[in-house]
Amino acid sequence: MVKNMLEDLTGIGSKTKQALSHLGIDTLEDLIDYYPYRYELVKRSNIEEKKEDDDVIVDGIVMNIPRVVYFKKHLERMTFQMQLQDRMIEIVIFNRGYLKKHLNVGTSVTVFGKWKPKKNQIVASKMKLGMIKKTYVEPIYHLTNKITNQKMIQWIHDAFQYAKIKPSMIPHCIEEKYQFLKKEESVLEIHHPTSTVHLKQARTRLKYEELFEFLYKMTLLKEMRKKENGLKRTISKEKIKEMIDQLPFSLTMDQKEAVKDIFKDMENESRMNRLIQGDVGSGKTILAFIASYTNYLSGYQTAFMAPTEILAIQHYEKAKELLEPFHMKVVLLTGKLKVSEKKKIQKEIETGEVDLIIGTHALISSKVTYSNLGLVITDEQHRFGVQQRRELKNKGMTPDILYMSATPIPRTYALTIYGDMEVSNIKTKPMGRKEIETLLYTEKELKDVLIKMYEELKKGHQIYVIAPLIEENEESNAKAVDTMYENMKKAFGKLYQIDMLHGKQDGKKKETIMNAFKENKIQILISTTVIEVGVDVPNATMIVIFNAERFGLSQLHQLRGRVGRSDLQSYCLLVSNYDKERLQIMTKVHDGFEISEEDFRLRGSGDFFGNRQSGDMNFKLADVCHDFKILRQAKEDAELLVQGKLNLTKEEELYFKNFQKSMSHLD
Ligand code: ADP
Ligand code: MG
Repeated sequence: MVKNMLEDLTGIGSKTKQALSHLGIDTLEDLIDYYPYRYELVKRSNIEEKKEDDDVIVDGIVMNIPRVVYFKKHLERMTFQMQLQDRMIEIVIFNRGYLKKHLNVGTSVTVFGKWKPKKNQIVASKMKLGMIKKTYVEPIYHLTNKITNQKMIQWIHDAFQYAKIKPSMIPHCIEEKYQFLKKEESVLEIHHPTSTVHLKQARTRLKYEELFEFLYKMTLLKEMRKKENGLKRTISKEKIKEMIDQLPFSLTMDQKEAVKDIFKDMENESRMNRLIQGDVGSGKTILAFIASYTNYLSGYQTAFMAPTEILAIQHYEKAKELLEPFHMKVVLLTGKLKVSEKKKIQKEIETGEVDLIIGTHALISSKVTYSNLGLVITDEQHRFGVQQRRELKNKGMTPDILYMSATPIPRTYALTIYGDMEVSNIKTKPMGRKEIETLLYTEKELKDVLIKMYEELKKGHQIYVIAPLIEENEESNAKAVDTMYENMKKAFGKLYQIDMLHGKQDGKKKETIMNAFKENKIQILISTTVIEVGVDVPNATMIVIFNAERFGLSQLHQLRGRVGRSDLQSYCLLVSNYDKERLQIMTKVHDGFEISEEDFRLRGSGDFFGNRQSGDMNFKLADVCHDFKILRQAKEDAELLVQGKLNLTKEEELYFKNFQKSMSHLD
């Protein structure tokens, strides 16, 4: 009989089918694609050499009828005597009473569990009928409680007979270049390992394929975007130079390079899709303004999106100061404007009266109609969602896109996540910046913290205090800010102005407070992490972070980046009773990249971005952190493929052509 559905396999009824579906398995092909997450070496242990609680695997003969005792609600305990080669031991296993009927006296069984020499007992976690015939490796699958590993192994074994393995995505010439195992052989080996060496080869091949497919898609997207008709501008460099010349500083080398990159993108006809990556405080904002001005000079509007309202406001104030003297009309458009104000601004955008529109990320998805949008800038966002892109396209617009991000991403990761864009790196900070001195305190040492703060305040400098993070919600965090405010008031209220900032306040209030802080009318600003990104007040030279253990290293680095934004010596005080070893890294490492690599190593990639974009990169086997070498190879090869430099067979050429076609609706 031909079997082509899950239900056709022995032991899969409607309930089991449901359970499998929860694991993402709905077809026979899915079963084959369901890889084990680890392997267990099944090898007879010599218990004479083992210590208390060691994991052991033994086989022997059941010597008495197993006894099942029930206690508590759902707990049952089964015990029996088992004869090993030359000794008798007791086996205990919980909630497996249903096995009793198989365990007749004289039956041979293999037992997996923990050895308790004092009691001459094994507490088993698993049991199988039969002796260990030879040492072998068993694949272990992620399961739900309805499905046992044995059954999974059986079904996958069965599925192999009826289902087709997905064809290889790797061209022949590459398989040959690396002498990869064949696809079928690799998938088989993953499920039925025959040797360590062979298994490793199989895994490498499949990892490569995953990464290759992903990077091929990314490279295709990148190429497709390049071919999209962008705006071909003639740039008047003279005029832009005038604007740059009146800045209070001169651009750093890296900033100049980035400006060149931006010009290049704007001048040629392909569409810009560029990321400016630079550590906190490296001076990315000015590049956004230069790009906006360039875009304005060629007659287009710019939308500049920030992740928070506070940041949007800050950019707005700076843009006005810098660009209005050059006749650009700048507006701030946030969700919290009065309806009448909003209407007025929307009208101005529609008629083309305004040139630079600054707001939060809603700028694009909102109902705004642009007169002639030429450039979209997103600050502190790593990607421009497919959704946003589509919305623009639906509105008939394909503006240039410029991203700016300070979230330093480990180099390894950057390769994948930024695979579809061009990247300009700003590695150096403006001249004269000093390393931020980072110090660790326990909560008991609060007095020392206050003394340090006082020293800084006496110099006329300002301080951020990040209130303890209470994860429940914004409300409780606002409360923590409140309490901290009272405490700081007690300590410094007579001499200095203190105020607070949190997400519960409305935009106007936030704006007033931020402005007062900028103008040094407030010396101590208590805040939640709403100031985490972007906020720029150069006279603030100290940041005190309570509950520092609750933050990831990269986040701490971002917060620390609020200070050290001038040539003044700055300080970061981390207050925490826990996690000293990890926090110590902050005192030693000051480079955002290095910190992100540490963070990445400690927390893994899944956690790194929250859920923001890891979804794109759910590889089954590959791990961008550890499989960097494979990743780099795959990237190189994927690029060769896109450039048409691989030696493909006729069928392969057709295959990739079709693949390419199927991609084009994605963008
Ligand atoms: P980030 O890269 O974190 O967004 P900003 O753009 O906010 O950094 O810049 C940080 C500070 O450095 C700002 O006050 C900005 O005016 C200043 N700045 C930018 N470029 C230079 C430069 N070339 N020389 C001196 N200061 C600069
Ligand atoms: Mg910034």
